[in-house]
Order: sequence, then C-alpha cells, then structure tokens
Amino acid sequence: MKQLRIPGPTPCPEEVLQAMGWQMINHRGPEFAKILNNVTAKLKQLFQTKNDVFLLSGSGTGGLEAVAVNTMSPGDKVLSVSIGVFGERFAAIAKEFGAEIIPLRFEWGKAADPDAIRKALKADPEIKTVLVTHNETSTGVTNDLASISSVVKEAGKLLVVDAISSLGSIDLPVDKWHCDVTVTGSQKGWMVPPGLAMVSVSQEGWQANQKAKMPRFYWDFAKAKSYLEKGQTPWTPVVSVFFALEVALDMMLKEGMANVFARHARMGKTAREGIKSLGLSPFAEEGYASNTVTSVAASNGLDTKKMLKILREEHDVVLAGGQQKLDGQIFRIGHLGWATEDDVKEVISAIKKVLPQAGFKSN
Ligand SMILES: *Cc1c(COP(=O)(O)O)cnc(C)c1O
Repeated sequence: MKQLRIPGPTPCPEEVLQAMGWQMINHRGPEFAKILNNVTAKLKQLFQTKNDVFLLSGSGTGGLEAVAVNTMSPGDKVLSVSIGVFGERFAAIAKEFGAEIIPLRFEWGKAADPDAIRKALKADPEIKTVLVTHNETSTGVTNDLASISSVVKEAGKLLVVDAISSLGSIDLPVDKWHCDVTVTGSQKGWMVPPGLAMVSVSQEGWQANQKAKMPRFYWDFAKAKSYLEKGQTPWTPVVSVFFALEVALDMMLKEGMANVFARHARMGKTAREGIKSLGLSPFAEEGYASNTVTSVAASNGLDTKKMLKILREEHDVVLAGGQQKLDGQIFRIGHLGWATEDDVKEVISAIKKVLPQAGFKSN
C-alpha cells in the first residue's frame, strides 16, 4: 500500500473519505448549522480552549493572513520569532500588510531561545505582538511554547501562534499557555483533506481585533463571529471538508486526546531511533525534535533527491525533501494524523533498502 508520509496533506481514514462524497446541503440551512456548531464545540475541546474558535475556508496560509489582518495595524511593531520557512512566511505576510517586523531568527534546526525573546522584548518596549511557530514543519523542530508564552505574557504582549502542524497531534493547551490567537490547518494532523484553517481567538485577541486597522474583507473575525451565532459562515464554506472533519473529530475524541498525543510521541521516537539505527542523524536539535515530522540530515554521500525518487517509484513511499536553503540538505518524514508506529517502521525499512542505491556509505 502507498505510504504518503509528508507533513501534509496526510492520508485520510476510509470513513472520512466517504463523508467527502456526501451530497451537498444548504450552507444556510439547519443541517449545516448543526454540523458547524458540533464541529466548533469539538474543536474547542481539542484546542483545550473556552475561547472562540472559527473555521475559515482556506489553507493554513490563509489562516495566517487572517490572523495578521485581524490583530494588527500598519506600522505596528511585531516581533517575529523564526526558526524556519514557516516562521519567515508568517513575518512576510504581516510585513506585506504594513507591520514593522523586528526579526529574531534562530539557526534552522534549532529551537527558539526564550531568554533571547525576553531580551528582544526588553530592548524594544513598543513591540505589541509576538509571532511564534509552535512546530516548524520545515526543520522538524518543536519550540518550547510554554516557556516562550511565559516570557511573552510577562511582558504583556499579544501571543500569536502558528500551530498548523502541531495542534491536534502534540499537546497544546491553548488557554493554559495563554495563546491569544492560534492557527491550524485541516490537512495536517486532523486526518481530513486540505481546505480549512481553524483559528482560536482570546479576549486579548478580540481587544487587538477592535484596534486592528489592516484591510480585510474575506478574513474578518468579527463577521465570522456574527455569522457563527446564526450557525453560518460569512461566505460559502468548504462543505465537504466540514462533513469530513465532523467524522474525523469523532474518531479523535473516541481515541482520546491523551492517546492521540501519546501515539504521536511514539511515532516520533520510532522515527528518530529508526533513523539513527541506519547511521543517519536527525537534523533537529536534541530535545526539540518534532513528534509530527522527523527531519533527517543528508550525510555520508546521501543524495536525498535520488533517495526520494527511488522510494516513490519503487517502494510507493512518498517522503518530503527540504525547503528553500534546506533543499538537498535534509529529507522529512511526516507522521501526523492517521498514522501508526507500524507505518513509521515500514518507512524506515524502505529507507534502509534504498540508502546504498542513493550513494549512502555507512561508516
Ligand atoms: C503547512 C504549514 C503552513 C502552511 O499551510 P498551507 O495549508 O500549506 O497554506 C504554515 N505553517 C506551518 C507550520 C505548516 O506546517
């Protein structure tokens, strides 16, 4: 069977795929209202929040843009804590809409240092908002969001989190960690196709929203809130993805959140140990390696592109390469959503078979 093990889109269970094929309904009728209310309530459980949660039709990047335009004004000083491609993207969006970005970059493969964030916030008291990636998919690193949050909140700033590839897979208690605005995307850990960004907004997030002057029309949290009260979304939603998400959320809640997180932790451990057993090295800093995506450094003559091609063509295993400056430097195994330790083991044994063909010389 095909192993699609990239960090999104991820495979979907059969029940979820069937739901994608259901007949259309009126998105302004009672059936859709019931689904929207049900899905919103269940998402709040998985976000571990009592705050508002909205479902926005669009990909994760749409969610990031929504967050920027709904919480910021042109000229606002924003601290961008960046450890990879997606941290840079978030900052680029905010900049495009006029935010003044104060970049705080860490070496790719490493986690953000909370002390450095504290210093940056002390150095510029005018900073209003802090952007952080919880799980940097491009490098396979999970930031210590609990510690980062204490620093950001101690300084009284708005905390905005890209949790696109962690929420629902890695424990992220949104309220406990005072995340003001948190974004995730349906095709990552949620076991459904692409099409939905899910966003939580705290009281402080709403206060920022009232002052935020960046232009917005499609992505307007105030509109999303007023329509949700009627059991609707402002614009025609991705109805089929809602059907699928309702099924997937029931599966996740049935498994139990703690069990879902534990399964991802086991997959992460299996991937890292498997990689090391082949003589390869994880790319992520020890102690911060992600439990949803494992990044592996190219070493010992390994041609990652050749390896990915052979895996895809001869073993039906689809993995991801490195992005931007990590192109050819690393490869990535996605193990989030509908996946088990056995899937990871299968991937590791396929890699083992092709390593010699891809130039890898073990010591
Ligand atoms: C996938 C991803 C994105 C981008 O989401 P799209 O759905 O591709 O727009 C942003 N941030 C992180 C951390 C991601 O993993």
